[in-house]
Amino acid sequence: MFSLWKDHLRDHPNSELISEFISCAGKRALAVLFPHKCLVCGRYIRFRPQPATPTVDHLLSPLFCPACLETGVTPIESPLCTWCGKPFATRTGTDHPCSDCLKACDQNHDLTCAPTWDRIGKVRAFGLYDALLKECIHLLKYRKKTSLARPLGRLLFQTFQRHFVTGPLHVIVPVPLHRKRLVKRGFNQAYLLVHEFPRLFRAWAGVAPGWTVSNRLLFRSRNTLSQTGFDKARRAENIKGAFRVKSPAKVRGKRIILTDDVYTTGATAREAASTLFKAGALSVDLLVLARA
Ligand SMILES: [Zn+2]
Ligand SMILES: [Zn+2]
Repeated sequence: MFSLWKDHLRDHPNSELISEFISCAGKRALAVLFPHKCLVCGRYIRFRPQPATPTVDHLLSPLFCPACLETGVTPIESPLCTWCGKPFATRTGTDHPCSDCLKACDQNHDLTCAPTWDRIGKVRAFGLYDALLKECIHLLKYRKKTSLARPLGRLLFQTFQRHFVTGPLHVIVPVPLHRKRLVKRGFNQAYLLVHEFPRLFRAWAGVAPGWTVSNRLLFRSRNTLSQTGFDKARRAENIKGAFRVKSPAKVRGKRIILTDDVYTTGATAREAASTLFKAGALSVDLLVLARA
């Protein structure tokens, strides 16, 4: 009976509209029966349908009440540094290298790349690590609110579309956690944020991507202390030698995007990138959800 009804729906000239209506009505009914509570303040949330191209508010509205949503997310827009992705205080003009990157180039007498980033091609982040985005990352990582991974992953995918989708790419590699921390947390947030990228790409482009997402190329061989609270030098020292590539043959000649949830001093990403370069990676870029 159900399959007959499904066949009938498939043949209907407005089948897409009808299934969208049914899906939306289903979600609305579920929201009435089992209303969600705001992840921050615990207030009940009213259902809001999601449009085809959702904004930040649309994506986060099933999880936060309007008052908590208002604390806001600050997406990073141009003009920003071509290399490190830092947004400029002046909101007019085009992207160009920032003074920190230029200073680092000058010290190394090399203006062809940004040595600050140890050959990382470019760093791009969805938003600033403050207000609601900071809260989201804390809720995901430390309070295990994994329902946030999907909307945050979609925000990260929008940044990927804007800055990386046309470039040559072989593999997306989430920055790994050490096995002990992975067991304790139960998931790697850097992987949760990108594991739906191939599906999102197919839905957007209508074809399968020419790249993959892999959490098996790079490993954390040393269980380091948490980087929180350390200064730049301490972070670099703490993370030194922490990563390992299991099969260099799978990395050699590859164009890679490393992904992570937060970018602070870049010490973790630089060490991970350096390990990939030693294994023969051709290029490494960095995509993060938030930057300090
Ligand atoms: Zn709230
Ligand atoms: Zn810069």
